[in-house]
Amino acid sequence: MTTSPLTLSPRPIDPSVDHGIQAIVAGASTAQTCTTDLAAGPWSFDTRPGYGPGSSMGDVIPAGAPRQGELPGYYRTADEAELHDRIADAKAALGDRVVVLGHFYQREEVVRHADYVGDSFQLAEAAKAHPEAEAIVFCGVHFMAETADLLSQREQAVILPNLAAGCSMADMASIDEVEECWEQLAEIYGALDEPDAEGLLPVIPVTYMNSSAAIKGFVGRNGGIVCTSSNARTVLEWAFARGRRVLFFPDQHLGRNTAKAMGVALDRMPMWNPRRPLGGNDEASVRDARVILWHGFCSVHRRFTVDQIERARAEHPGVRVIVHPECPMPVVDAADEAGSTEYIRRAIDGATEPSVFAVGTEINLVQRLAAQYPQHRIFCLDPVVCPCSTMYRIHPGYLAWVLDELRAGRTPNRIQVSDDVAVPARAALERMLAARP
Ligand code: SF4
Repeated sequence: MTTSPLTLSPRPIDPSVDHGIQAIVAGASTAQTCTTDLAAGPWSFDTRPGYGPGSSMGDVIPAGAPRQGELPGYYRTADEAELHDRIADAKAALGDRVVVLGHFYQREEVVRHADYVGDSFQLAEAAKAHPEAEAIVFCGVHFMAETADLLSQREQAVILPNLAAGCSMADMASIDEVEECWEQLAEIYGALDEPDAEGLLPVIPVTYMNSSAAIKGFVGRNGGIVCTSSNARTVLEWAFARGRRVLFFPDQHLGRNTAKAMGVALDRMPMWNPRRPLGGNDEASVRDARVILWHGFCSVHRRFTVDQIERARAEHPGVRVIVHPECPMPVVDAADEAGSTEYIRRAIDGATEPSVFAVGTEINLVQRLAAQYPQHRIFCLDPVVCPCSTMYRIHPGYLAWVLDELRAGRTPNRIQVSDDVAVPARAALERMLAARP
């Protein structure tokens, strides 16, 4: 679909989602938020003893892992300007000893202090590029800090400012559930490590980057590979060159959208629900499968609907609709384009005429793009202000606290992947880096 040139008057856009939520709660804005609880500090919710370091409340905490303690009072009560200055001072004092990474979906108040802003894999690569830094402060969620630990030097400390910052999608595939699924598949397909007469294995496990290190390690041990939302098609081609089928986790939507675009029929993509025998399938459909989709999803991207796209088109003729492939298939099919966060950013950056973009991804990124490209009208497809609630746990108070701790010679909230997991997980990541279209 072509975009018709539009004349737009530039208007100032506050990229801070927090300010938007505060205004809604104070009655100064008629917009809506998915929950007014977001106006409170995350420490109001992070009270469960022993909560973290896992991906979320559903995570199992490994023995000996650090626990999120209560954030000292100053960091909970200081206002935005004070915290800003405190973070800037600590960063200046620490210099090259620390690198701060900020995910695209982080709140503006945190991202403005980041040395690098990007998606999870870009940030892990940025960490790798700074072997001189003693500490890498990862303003993202737990699986991202784990990936940075896998790719950085052993002596470097990867720090997650709030251990309660997780990813609900990553939690949807636990290592126990995945091992159990693998055993059930072996009962149907036979030995999973024995190729057939054509040299193909019965099934290749593929995990999205948004999964725990334990899942990446499982994949690495079983001849599989990791993918991102940018390279999912290349990775599936890699897997189909080596196996009859793919077991794809945790995000069913990325798996379905990618495999469908490659021509895989929907009836050959059964879904595996780990709470049901054979994932809720009969043996024939598991045998006939080309891609077995794990029953996982992103609670943020699942909010986008075809109705929202139709409304955007009715209200903004000529609008260009771009969504993330974690959105459900009908939404991806109805959009003009689908692609990773980096794809979305580049698409907007490459538009030479003033245009209207309706974007189906996390609101912090959309707001920031709207502020960065005032020549365009850029808005989130979902009219409700609803950030990723787990990313949102990295409040500037937590960032100020970990930087002050580092300055004082302490290393808080270190995320470390044990060697038995790290070695195969790295192998799965290296296969991804070597995979070519
Ligand atoms: S946006 Fe979705 S996939 Fe990304 S961290 Fe949040 S819950 Fe996880």
